[in-house]
Amino acid sequence: MKKLKVDILSLFPDYFDSPLMQSMLGRAQQKGIVEINAIDIRDFADGKHAKVDDRPYGGGPGMLLMVEPVVKAIRSCREENSHVVHLSPQGKTLNSAKCENLATHEHLILLCGHYEGIDQRAIDLEIDEEVSIGDYVLTSGMPAALVLLDATCRFIPGVLGHDESARNDTFGKMSFDAPHYTRPEEFEGKKVPDILLGGHHAKIDAWRREMGINKCAQVRPDLLAKEKL
Ligand code: SAM
Repeated sequence: MKKLKVDILSLFPDYFDSPLMQSMLGRAQQKGIVEINAIDIRDFADGKHAKVDDRPYGGGPGMLLMVEPVVKAIRSCREENSHVVHLSPQGKTLNSAKCENLATHEHLILLCGHYEGIDQRAIDLEIDEEVSIGDYVLTSGMPAALVLLDATCRFIPGVLGHDESARNDTFGKMSFDAPHYTRPEEFEGKKVPDILLGGHHAKIDAWRREMGINKCAQVRPDLLAKEKL
């Protein structure tokens, strides 16, 4: 059985408690398919005050995570097959293909920045890749780690009810998923499209593909252009 171990390094490990215990990720952990540990970088700080941040050399606003506790925290959980990801607005933008690739690893270490970021030497020494979840700046890497983890775990066999779902969903096939309907057949005058009630699977598949392509063409024509290449 494929299993993914994930260590998340941050200053607020309790942040992850609730979202990781619920729904699919909670069940994946109960089934032993995914093991997730939230690790406190502060545990690797020296001194009575366990200081983890300091002012940037050269001046400027805000504080930085210091190199030593970050490096020690990563080395404390690093294994032979670890892949170390720094969540950063300066990383390559996360997409479905990247998540599928991350899911092939045995061990991910997700490093969350805080404040103005992390001393560059920790990144140069320990990081395999930097990943951004979009062109905006978060207050910390913690929400980004959750997004990456959630989207990556969908590609691990056994996490979803149907393993093919992840590849049939939007982005799995470079265009959008089709609109979905469930009971009742009519709500406030709006009816479920007749084609979905007819039981003709080939026609339903063709309709779904067409609907996905039409919406994608309106909202994200760049994705369809890539599919044609
Ligand atoms: N000074 C940094 C810059 O301008 O590139 C921004 C630091 S941000 C306030 C604090 C932390 O949030 C970062 O170290 C990073 O870990 C995380 N972060 C912010 N935006 C992110 C994004 N779009 N994707 C992933 N992580 C992000």
